[in-house]
Amino acid sequence: MRAAPRLSAASERPDPAAARADAGSRPVTALRGVGAALAQRLERLGVTSVADLLFLLPLRYEDRTRVTPIGALTPGTRAAVEGEVQLTEVTYRRRRQLLTRLADGSGFLTLRFFYFSGSQQQNLARGTRLRAFGEVRRGPLGLEIVHPEYRRLGEAAAPLEETLTPIYPLTEGVPQGRLRALIAQALDEVARGGLVDLIPPHAGLPAGLPALHEALVYLHRPPRGAELAELAAGRHPAQRRLAFEELLAHTLALRVRKRALKSDPAARLDDAALARRLIGSLPFSLTRAQARALAEVEADLATGVPMVRLLQGDVGCGKTVVAAAAAARAAGAGKQAALMAPTELLAEQHGRNFTEWFRPLGLPVALLCGGQPARTRRSALEGLASGEIRIVVGTHALFQEGIEFADLALVIVDEQHRFGVQQRLKLAEKAHGARLLPHQLIMTATPIPRTLAMTAYADLDISVIDELPPGRTPVQTVVLPEERRAQVVQRIVAACRAGRQVYWVCPLIDESDELRAQAAEETAAALAAALPGVRVGLVHGRMPPKAKDQAMLAFKAGKIQLLVATTVIEVGVDVPNATLMVIENAERMGLAQLHQLRGRVGRGLEASSCVLLYRSPLSETARARLKAIRATADGFEIARRDLELRGPGELLGTRQTGLAQLRVADLMRDADLLPRVQAAAERLEADAVRSAALTSRWIGSDERYGRVG
Ligand code: ADP
Ligand code: MG
Repeated sequence: MRAAPRLSAASERPDPAAARADAGSRPVTALRGVGAALAQRLERLGVTSVADLLFLLPLRYEDRTRVTPIGALTPGTRAAVEGEVQLTEVTYRRRRQLLTRLADGSGFLTLRFFYFSGSQQQNLARGTRLRAFGEVRRGPLGLEIVHPEYRRLGEAAAPLEETLTPIYPLTEGVPQGRLRALIAQALDEVARGGLVDLIPPHAGLPAGLPALHEALVYLHRPPRGAELAELAAGRHPAQRRLAFEELLAHTLALRVRKRALKSDPAARLDDAALARRLIGSLPFSLTRAQARALAEVEADLATGVPMVRLLQGDVGCGKTVVAAAAAARAAGAGKQAALMAPTELLAEQHGRNFTEWFRPLGLPVALLCGGQPARTRRSALEGLASGEIRIVVGTHALFQEGIEFADLALVIVDEQHRFGVQQRLKLAEKAHGARLLPHQLIMTATPIPRTLAMTAYADLDISVIDELPPGRTPVQTVVLPEERRAQVVQRIVAACRAGRQVYWVCPLIDESDELRAQAAEETAAALAAALPGVRVGLVHGRMPPKAKDQAMLAFKAGKIQLLVATTVIEVGVDVPNATLMVIENAERMGLAQLHQLRGRVGRGLEASSCVLLYRSPLSETARARLKAIRATADGFEIARRDLELRGPGELLGTRQTGLAQLRVADLMRDADLLPRVQAAAERLEADAVRSAALTSRWIGSDERYGRVG
């Protein structure tokens, strides 16, 4: 595919700054004393280039710049002390050990060694002056340090460290001292101008952040008296300078991808007639937010430049019709549209909706998913290859080998958080060889806060549906301990008597589908026994697609009143008559998942409720989660809380975004930098050489965004 952007422009247009920046991108083996073996070990720390070494920041610092009088030591701190050995002896208290008593006139301190040599014992003879460093703790003989680092002091005053001592993350076979020496070597290169500052003044670096050199030197060798608390919190300007650069590099990489994608031609879908007819035939009118999102989508489709748009909107806001209208544009132009859903259940549901909407317009809709009869599948494939079928819905079975489209102009991906950048790349690849690239519309119900979305999805344009269709009553959420289960069962009876339907979501007992299925079966049997008048159905991931489909259909048709399910119903399923949802072991589920599940009720005009059953004792986080989900129904607010509780890696899905693996930056902590990062990316985007240098410095040959280097 063409998405691999041409970033190696440096060789064509020599730029002295970018060329010099290459000193940092030299392999670590360029440093003195680094052979293949050490290089391999360093790679485990993510270090392959000299610059990587510089961006390997200390986990913490120790202050060996001053000596603390022994009398002023506090347990639990790490400190340097100086004193004279009063006594050194081997004792056998439980196990053999060496004890050295050190005094400085203000008090005395025990140094305790469990591993020691004979010469070490001799070196610690009475009268020796020592400087020792380590963690002070309370021991049986008063304050002590176990296995301190120490050195003997001669007659002359030994100089103290001038800078704080960095403690780096370690990997087997690379001791702290070795790493320090290597980083010192790398820092020398910086001092010689080997690592160019790639952020020019016009990039708009926030005020008060230092230049690159200054930041690196500060972080590897903080001066005496540096703000340790600020450093520990990751809020020091030197750290923020690097975080800014890292976030900028990622943003640029994604934008470059987007530009590359958009440089290919796509079909111009400028006939609105069919889409208008589809919208006109719906039993409702679009909300303002839907209409706005659709207008944005249609504007993209009409241009002949590939659309890469994320359609973001809370569960139940009505993304599907927007997608259908887009598909109508493709079909109206005589071309094809494909909608891909993350599960068969959802694919089938979308298939039914699309069929309902498109059949009256004279357009057949094909369904392609895993467990289909061969004949159905074959005829769908033929229809797609001949172009007779213009609209197809399916799972990722849609993009397997051997599936041919006559003229695919639009790909719609539902519930994007299940798909990642990698899959997006694949989709575009599918069309490689075709003259035109298909437009892409990606729908997600994970309402990521805007600044975060703009960074994590900088390769996409974003439309937001921030309004629910009218007439919905907010779902009332109740949190109850497991002991009140009997009471909850009574609520089911009441709901069914009133003609409503109920979901019961089974606990997340295990990661295995097998055990989940078993638990769901047992729960369904128990509930059926407890509720003789109620028709109970079951859906879980282990059922054959057909049985699953039948159960869902029966539930949708009202033949099943109580549907017991695993979390397979999490995404997208739409049954407006269901007004009660019970979630077992809610304390084990994440906020986003609870919100998604709860979104299955409250889809009709009736008031709905969601009962969250939990098992005690609740952890701190679980308590916070349940409190948050009860307090708010706003997906964006929930996303914000989720971000606080879990961090962005979890929210975005670790596999889904390169941003889940940042080295220096932290999306949560550094969120306030994001607007400026965006602005800087806009200013620097056109500067291909600089952008390439930044990306290769921070992302290197990593393929998480496709090939960028
Ligand atoms: P989601 O955004 O979660 O995918 P859906 O597209 O499944 O939401 O829509 C949820 C429900 O709302 C569906 O039953 C759909 O038909 C209905 N719906 C969508 N748009 C509107 C609207 N403008 N007015 C009323 N109901 C709507
Ligand atoms: Mg949906």
